[in-house]
Amino acid sequence: MQQAQIDRLRSATVPARQLFIGGRSKAANGEARLDVVSPIDGRSFTTIVDGDAQDIDLAIKQARQAFDGGSWSRATPTHRKKVLLRLAELIEQHALEIAVLGVRDNGTEIAMAYKAEPLSAAGTIRYYAEAIDKLYGEIAPTGRDILGLVHREPLGVVGVIVPWNFPLMIGAWKIGPALATGNSVVVKPPEAASLTLLRLAELASEAGLPDGVLNVVTGRGASAGEALALHMDVDALAFTGSGAVGRRLLECSARSNLKRVHLELGGKSPNVVFADAPDIRQAAKTSVNGIFRNSGQVCVAGSRLLVQSSVYDEFMEALLGATANLKVGDPLDLTSDIGAVSSAGQLHKNLDAVVRAQEEGATRLTGGEQIRVESGGSFMSPAILADVTPGMELWREEVFGPVLAVTRFDDDDDAVSLANATPYGLASAVWTGNLSRAHRMVRAINAGVVHVNTYGGADITVPLGGFKQSGFGRDKSLHAFYGYTDLKTAWIAL
Ligand code: NAD
Repeated sequence: MQQAQIDRLRSATVPARQLFIGGRSKAANGEARLDVVSPIDGRSFTTIVDGDAQDIDLAIKQARQAFDGGSWSRATPTHRKKVLLRLAELIEQHALEIAVLGVRDNGTEIAMAYKAEPLSAAGTIRYYAEAIDKLYGEIAPTGRDILGLVHREPLGVVGVIVPWNFPLMIGAWKIGPALATGNSVVVKPPEAASLTLLRLAELASEAGLPDGVLNVVTGRGASAGEALALHMDVDALAFTGSGAVGRRLLECSARSNLKRVHLELGGKSPNVVFADAPDIRQAAKTSVNGIFRNSGQVCVAGSRLLVQSSVYDEFMEALLGATANLKVGDPLDLTSDIGAVSSAGQLHKNLDAVVRAQEEGATRLTGGEQIRVESGGSFMSPAILADVTPGMELWREEVFGPVLAVTRFDDDDDAVSLANATPYGLASAVWTGNLSRAHRMVRAINAGVVHVNTYGGADITVPLGGFKQSGFGRDKSLHAFYGYTDLKTAWIAL
């Protein structure tokens, strides 16, 4: 990836986008549109449809028709594999174009966006494509006069609702296994970052996915999203986003057809540094990336730092040094380590969280201010707040921005009780050179992932999902297939 290639794409005209329904671009039912405002300069560079319940209904009808027609749902696994592998290739061929489009939409620094969005999405689609002809049913261990067969079947129409931080990567975690197992899908992208998912649907069509199997209806959560969640003909909803919306989706399911709901929600993940960490400087550097990349807008971000008292001063010096080295800048500049906060609204939420934490008694060590104001975009300096205690909002509540809460601890029990003292349980990390301590911590910390002597980077081969109020269901790995299929028993007298 060269800077010159990025610069050629950075101001490309993006025509006003329509919906993607039934295998083609489709005008909306109504006239309402939403501006797509770039957090790089605060300017609108195109518009998307503000879809409504009728648009959602049409997309679901097309999805159901495609499912019942069987051109995808009953296609051989090898055929589905071929089409999805072609889709993965097309995403890779268009990777830079997609990455730049996504960065203009949500402000993630390009080096990260390029890997985490198109390349990761292509890898995910390929992973599920390659797995689909290796999944077998089961023969039950019955007596000789009976044959018990367990079939695995697609669910039907799956609704996918995702957030704006990594819409393509997270979308692919759901769309990949859903399509591979033969479902039809209706996606409601985040209103603040819809463009890459629209592009994915176009490429899927080009790859040979039958019309109606993958549909995208843009619009706001409260209208288009809720219409999808309340629809009587959607079999499952796969959601990533906030806890508040996750709760709302469970209500929608209860009020409609009891569609199954998978929830990947927020986190307030503890990053625990023991005095016996193998390399304090490396731990500090990795911890800085673990909270501040993509301006902290990462579900698994290590937003609570717990440092053992005996190395607190040494570690904090390294942490502040590594933070000072980060360059916050134009996300389309390859030399920027951190890009823009996704929107002006999110920026102000982050700034307010820093102010409230100080009012509650936290000590601001660095950052927490709006910067690059002259750009017109939404930029914030990475904030580190010390002396944060479990009673404070900053300890319990997710900011979803570049704001790190720091505290110190004395021993293992203290570390575990502080680490678990939030309603969330998404991710965590421990830094220690003691193997037994590492394993004890993996058992004791209530989170879907416990990193040891690293932070982030868990690939598609392992599941991702939450304990406690971080949700349930799992994205990634072969376990994700369970979310998009049902078991059917055939009990046959011989
Ligand atoms: P959000 O919950 O506000 O929105 C997520 C999606 O839900 C968007 O597409 C939105 O339009 C839609 N939505 C909003 N209201 C809705 C409603 N009433 N009915 C149906 N859909 C509705 O979250 P966000 O601000 O986009 O993203 C940030 C959140 O996502 C954070 O809490 C973050 O931790 C979480 N997240 C979790 C993971 C994970 O894997 N666990 C990954 C990334 C982000």
